[in-house]
Amino acid sequence: MTPAPTPPPTPPPTPPPTPPPTPPPRPSATPSTTPSPALSKALPKAVPTAPPVRRRTVRSGGLPLAVFEQGDPAAPTVLLVHGYPDTHAVWDDIAADLARDHHVVRYDVRGAGESGVPADRSGYLLERLAEDLFAVADAVSPDRPVHLLAHDWGSIQSWEAVTAPDAEHRIASYTTLSGPSLDHMGHWLRHRLRRPTPRHLGQLLHQGLHSWYITAFHLPYLAPGIWRLGLARAWPRVLRDLEHVTPRADHPQPTLRRDAVRGIELYRANFRPTLGSPRERPTEVPVQLITLTRDRYVGTYLSEGLERWVPKLTRRTLHAGHWSALLEKGTTVAGLVREFTARVDEGRARPAEDDGRLVVVTGGGSGIGRATALAFAEDGARVVVCDLDLAAAERTAELASLIGPKAHAYRVDVSDGAAVDAFAQTVAAEHGVPDVMVNNAGIGHSGTFLQTTEKEWQRVLDVNLWGVIHGCRAFGTLMADRGQGGHIVNVSSAAAYLPSKALTAYATSKAAVFMLSDCLRAEFTGHGIGVSTICPGIVNTNITRTSTFSATSATEQAAKQARAARLYARRGFPPEKVAAAILTAVRTGRSVVPVTPEAKAARFLSRLSPGLLRLAARLNIT
Ligand code: NAD
Repeated sequence: MTPAPTPPPTPPPTPPPTPPPTPPPRPSATPSTTPSPALSKALPKAVPTAPPVRRRTVRSGGLPLAVFEQGDPAAPTVLLVHGYPDTHAVWDDIAADLARDHHVVRYDVRGAGESGVPADRSGYLLERLAEDLFAVADAVSPDRPVHLLAHDWGSIQSWEAVTAPDAEHRIASYTTLSGPSLDHMGHWLRHRLRRPTPRHLGQLLHQGLHSWYITAFHLPYLAPGIWRLGLARAWPRVLRDLEHVTPRADHPQPTLRRDAVRGIELYRANFRPTLGSPRERPTEVPVQLITLTRDRYVGTYLSEGLERWVPKLTRRTLHAGHWSALLEKGTTVAGLVREFTARVDEGRARPAEDDGRLVVVTGGGSGIGRATALAFAEDGARVVVCDLDLAAAERTAELASLIGPKAHAYRVDVSDGAAVDAFAQTVAAEHGVPDVMVNNAGIGHSGTFLQTTEKEWQRVLDVNLWGVIHGCRAFGTLMADRGQGGHIVNVSSAAAYLPSKALTAYATSKAAVFMLSDCLRAEFTGHGIGVSTICPGIVNTNITRTSTFSATSATEQAAKQARAARLYARRGFPPEKVAAAILTAVRTGRSVVPVTPEAKAARFLSRLSPGLLRLAARLNIT
C-alpha cells in the first residue's frame, strides 16, 4: 500500500491490461544473486551468508508462479507473501534468517516479478490470490500445514486464505503485518459509521487521510502515469527518506515499474466490492498480529475488535515503519515468527489465555502498579510484579492469576542496583526476556528546597530516579540482547513539567525520569524498543498515605498525609484509568502520555507558556 506524489501535468493514457507472456527468467533478486562488483561495493549486501535459493514454478489458475525455496525441506515450512509493489526480494533478510531452522518458501504473487500476469482485472480478485497461495502451499508442503507470514497486500490476500473454510487444516499459523482483511475492515468501517463517537470519527478521519492514495488508485490514468513517469525511479529515495531504509543492491527489484503499474489492479478489483458488502470471516488459525507503530498507511486502531473474528489472536507491537519493519528490522520480525511458530508447533498457542507477552511491573503491590499488572493480565499477558512489600506483590500476582495466565511476585528494592540486576537475571532465567517493562515504583515527598534534608533528597532520588535507571539498564540490556524489540514504560509525573516550590525533590526526580526517557527513546529506537513516559496527574492511590513531608513532626506528618489522602479521594481518579493509558501507550508507541485532565492541561501550558507556570509555582498551588 503505497503513497503517490503530486500528479504530473499531463498523464499519459493507461493501456488496457495485456495478457503478458511469461516473463523470461531473470537473475533472482534473492541472496543467491551476484550483483556487479561495483554495485556490491557501493551498496551493502542484504545477507552475505544466506542459504542457497532453489527456484521452481508452480501453476495456479493457468498462470506460472515463480517460487523460491531455502532451508531444509524437512523442517517446518514458512510461506512468505509479499505486498505491493514488492516481489519475493523484499523478504531477503527475513528468509535468510528463518532458513537457518525452517523450510522457507516465497513466491512472486501474480502480476509481479517473475510470475505470470492475469489477463484482466478479475484475475486479481482475492479468491484467485488465495487459490495461488494454497497452490504453492500444497506444492511445497503437501503433507503438513504451513506457517504463513505476510505483509501489506500479501497480508490482505493471506487473510482471504486464512479465513477460508477449514483453513486451519492447511495453515498452521499466520503472522500478519500491515494488511487487514478487507472484510474485517468493512465491518470496522460500518461499526464506526453507525456509532459516530468523537473517537470513532477521529479514527475514520485519520485513516481516510492516510488512505488518499487508494482513492487515487481508482482514478484512470493517474497512478499508472505517476509510476511510469518517475515514481519507480524515485522509489529507493522514497524508501530512504520516508522509511529510513538503507539502499541495498537487491531491492527494489528491477521489475518495479512494471509490477507497480500492474498491481494497481489489486486495489481496483477488491477494495470497493469487499468494503461495500463485507462477509463474515472468522478463523480458527492462530494469528500473530504485528502492529507497526510508525506505519503511515495502516492505522494501529484498524485491528480493534479483531478478537471477534480471531479467537486465537496474539498481539505484538513493533516500533517500525511500513517497509523498515522488513528491510531494517528483519531480525526482530524473524525472531517473532520463530517464537510464534515454535509455540504453535508445540501446541502452546492458547493465546486467549496466554498471549505469550511477558510484562514486568515494579511497585506492583499497590495503586497504579497493581492496576497495570491486572490490566496486562486481563489482556492475556504473563505478568511478573516486584515490590518492596512482598505480601502486597503476592496479592497482586494472586489477583492477576485469577484473570489471566499465572503471575509471579518478587521482593525487590528498586533503589538497589545489584538487586535489580539479580531480579532481571532471575526473570530472564525463569520466565524469559520481558516484552514490556513498567518502571512504576515511586514514593511521594513534599518540602521546599531549604526544608529538604540531604537524606530526604537521597531517598527520593534513589527510588524515583535511580530505581528507573536500574530498571531501564537491567531490562533494556536483556531486550537489546534478545534483538526482538520491546517496550519500556517509565512512570513520571505532571510534576516533571509543573514547577512547584513545595515538591522540589519529587518534581526534580520526575523531571529527570522524563528526560531520561527522552534520551533512552532516541537510543533504543535502533533496537526496536519503544519508550513511553507516563504523567498520571492526581490519582487516588496509597501514595498519599506513604508520602513524607520535610520539617514536620510525626503528628504533623500523619495529619498532612490524611489531608492529602482526603484530597486525592475527593478527586477520585482511579488508577485503572492510568493502567488503561499505559496499555494504549504500549500498543501505539506513544511517547509522552499525560493522563488526567489536569496533567493534560499542565502539559499544554508548559509548552504554550512555561513562564506562566513558573509564575504560578510561586503561589504554591500544587
Ligand atoms: P502507591 O504508593 O500506591 O504504589 C507504589 C508502590 O511502589 C508501592 O506498592 C510501594 O511499596 C512500591 N515501592 C516504593 N518504593 C519502592 C522500592 N524502593 N522498591 C520497590 N517498590 C517500591 O503509589 P502510586 O500512586 O501507585 O504510584 C506509582 C507511581 O506513580 C509512582 O512512581 C508515583 O510517583 C507515580 N505517580 C503517582 C501519582 C498519584 O497521584 N498517585 C501521580 C503522579 C505520579
